[in-house]
Amino acid sequence: MEQLDWSSLGFGYHKTDYNVRCYYRDGKWGELEVSSEETITMHMGATCLHYGQEAFEGLKAFKGKDGKVRIFRIDENAKRMIRSAEGVVMQPVPQKLFEEACIKAVKLNERFIPPYESGASLYIRPLLLGLGAQVGVKPAPEYLFIVFVTPVGPYFKEGFKPTPMAIMRGYDRAAPLGTGTIKVGGNYAAGMIPTVLAHDKGYSACLFLDAKEKKYIDECGPANFFGIKNNTYITPESTSILPSITNKSLMQLAKDMGMNVERRHVPESELAEFEEAGACGTAAVISPILRIDDLDENKTYQISKDGKPGKRCEELYNRLRAIQYGDVEDPYGWVTIVE
Ligand SMILES: *Cc1c(COP(=O)(O)O)cnc(C)c1O
Repeated sequence: MEQLDWSSLGFGYHKTDYNVRCYYRDGKWGELEVSSEETITMHMGATCLHYGQEAFEGLKAFKGKDGKVRIFRIDENAKRMIRSAEGVVMQPVPQKLFEEACIKAVKLNERFIPPYESGASLYIRPLLLGLGAQVGVKPAPEYLFIVFVTPVGPYFKEGFKPTPMAIMRGYDRAAPLGTGTIKVGGNYAAGMIPTVLAHDKGYSACLFLDAKEKKYIDECGPANFFGIKNNTYITPESTSILPSITNKSLMQLAKDMGMNVERRHVPESELAEFEEAGACGTAAVISPILRIDDLDENKTYQISKDGKPGKRCEELYNRLRAIQYGDVEDPYGWVTIVE
C-alpha cells in the first residue's frame, strides 16, 4: 500500500478505498451499500444535472492523541442537510441514516485518517442528488445519497495567517429570500465568477454584501464572517447566509471566554472598527482576515495591523481544535467517538 505523506496534504480530493451509497426509490430509502467505485451512473435527464436538485455537507473526523476517532457535530450536519433537501424539494435523508452512513464511511477508510501529530483530518462529504429521466421542472422521483471521505491538510497552504479579502459589488451570491441559507451547489455556481476574480487578484475570498441594499456584510466566500471589537464577537444576521456550524460553535466558545456575542446586521462601515476579523467554516475553522478591499469604492479596511492573527482569533481557533482532537473535555457533547 502506498504511504501517504500526511504533512504535505492540501485541501483536495485524494482517493480512498470505499464510499457509501443509499437510494430512495418507490417511496422509501433502501439499504446502505458499500462501493469502491469513484464514479456514479445516472440518467442524463437527472434533475440534479438540469435543475440543481443537489445538496451537500462537509464535516470532519479527527484522530486524537488517545487514538480515538472523533466526528465533530455530526447531528448538526444531518439536520442542516434535511433543511437543504427541503429547500429544493428533495427527499430528506433521515438523521439516523445520515449519521450511520458517515460513520460507516469513516470506519471503512480508517487507514486514511491522518495521525494526530499531522494536524490533518478526514473530510467527510455527504451528497444528495435528484435522479430520474425528466425534462419538465418538477422534483425528482428518485434520490441518491452518497458519502465519500478524503484526507485533508489545512485549508490554507500558508497556515494560520491572515489573508486579504475583496468586496466586489457587481456580484451577488444569493438573493435575500433565495437559497443562501441552504447548502446547495447553485449558490456556489452563482458565486463562481467573483470567487475566481478574487483569487486572480490575490485575495483568498470574496466578501459578499447583502444583495438588496449592498450595505451589510453577508457571506464571506464559502464561510461565515465574524468581527471582534470591544470584547464582543459579532457575526452578521441575514436571510441569505448559510448557518455555519463552526460559527455556532465559535459563538459558544466566545461566551466561554467571557466575550459578548452579537448576531445582527453588520454595516460595511463597521469594518473600520474591528480589532480582529475572520472567516469561519469546517475546512479552515478560522481564516483570519488581514484586510478587506472594497474594489468598487476604492476603500481599504486594514484589520490586522501587524500581519498576525489576533489573540482572540487564535484562542478561539485553539479551543475549537482542542475539542475536535479530544485534547480537552467536550462540555457540550459536540463530538461523536467512532467505536
Ligand atoms: C459550508 C458553508 C459554510 C461553513 O459551514 P460549516 O458548517 O461551518 O462548515 C459557510 N458558508 C457557506 C456558503 C457554506 O457552504
